[in-house]
Amino acid sequence: MKRIDPLFSQRFPLKWVLILAVCFSLTSSLTTVSAQKNYITVVIDPGHGGSDPGHLPTQKNLLSEKAINLIIAQKFGNYIEQNLQNVKIIYTRTDDSYPSLTDRVNKANAARADYFISIHCNANHNKHVHGTESHVHSLKEVRGVALARAFEQAFVISAGRFSRGVKDSEDREHSLQVLKYTAMNSVLVECGFLTNEQEAQYLNTIKGQEQMASSIYTAFKEHIIKSHPTIAFVKSTPNETLAKRTINGPVSGAYAIQLMSSKEPIDTSIQEFKRIGIPVERKKVNSTSAYKYQYRTPVYASQDEAKRELEKVQKSGFKDAYIIQVNR
Ligand SMILES: [Zn+2]
Repeated sequence: MKRIDPLFSQRFPLKWVLILAVCFSLTSSLTTVSAQKNYITVVIDPGHGGSDPGHLPTQKNLLSEKAINLIIAQKFGNYIEQNLQNVKIIYTRTDDSYPSLTDRVNKANAARADYFISIHCNANHNKHVHGTESHVHSLKEVRGVALARAFEQAFVISAGRFSRGVKDSEDREHSLQVLKYTAMNSVLVECGFLTNEQEAQYLNTIKGQEQMASSIYTAFKEHIIKSHPTIAFVKSTPNETLAKRTINGPVSGAYAIQLMSSKEPIDTSIQEFKRIGIPVERKKVNSTSAYKYQYRTPVYASQDEAKRELEKVQKSGFKDAYIIQVNR
């Protein structure tokens, strides 16, 4: 979220605009080349496996990260297989084995895949920390970032989760090998914190696993339909048996719009915020990210209300703002 600082654009002179224009035209010519293909390839990477359990459960009766990752990854792949065509799926693992990170990267690069989606669960020494995250290598990767944002939005809207947003190596203050060395749009999703009791319970239920998988699927589907307009992805008789959406029913929370985040606190009375016409609240969040200050609107009681306001917020300059679920 952080680089959505409206001050950003004002600070960047024409030189940058020109460089961006060149990058944009390169991107469009690449799109033209890939548009000639009549299918896409997605590598689905269930994180960890075998001797590497990932994060361990905090209770004996719960699954370790590697097992949850594999379940969600396979459900995601199944949704694609049941409902879409012209999508080739390659798994980095389909059982409890451990391909090295280099193996995973090489497999994706050798297949000239279009997408690499790595599925993980998070952990933190603070058991209160919870929420989903979608990681990219760099926020400059336009399409990868768009997909990552779509995942986060779906986690909120389809699965009713709390989103901690899109993060890159600058945020994390380290690179992730599978994101850095894969030559395609690569996103690593963190489905929630196994160290947070409620989130761990949720991720251990079939309902939770299906909601996460169907959110990933829905966001992925919408993204590829938009990004590859010449390929027909949707089967004529789709068999969408996706996990039931929770948001239509009552939820224990409310909604707000997140505008941006920053490393250092920014005064909320600045002109960029005032222009929205909605009071902006600054919150310091307990985050592993360096961007600890989040800027949000006040809480809305319904998702519809938040959606209406989102348009207004985006029009007033925060075009990457998105809806988050918050506790009252
Ligand atoms: Zn992991």
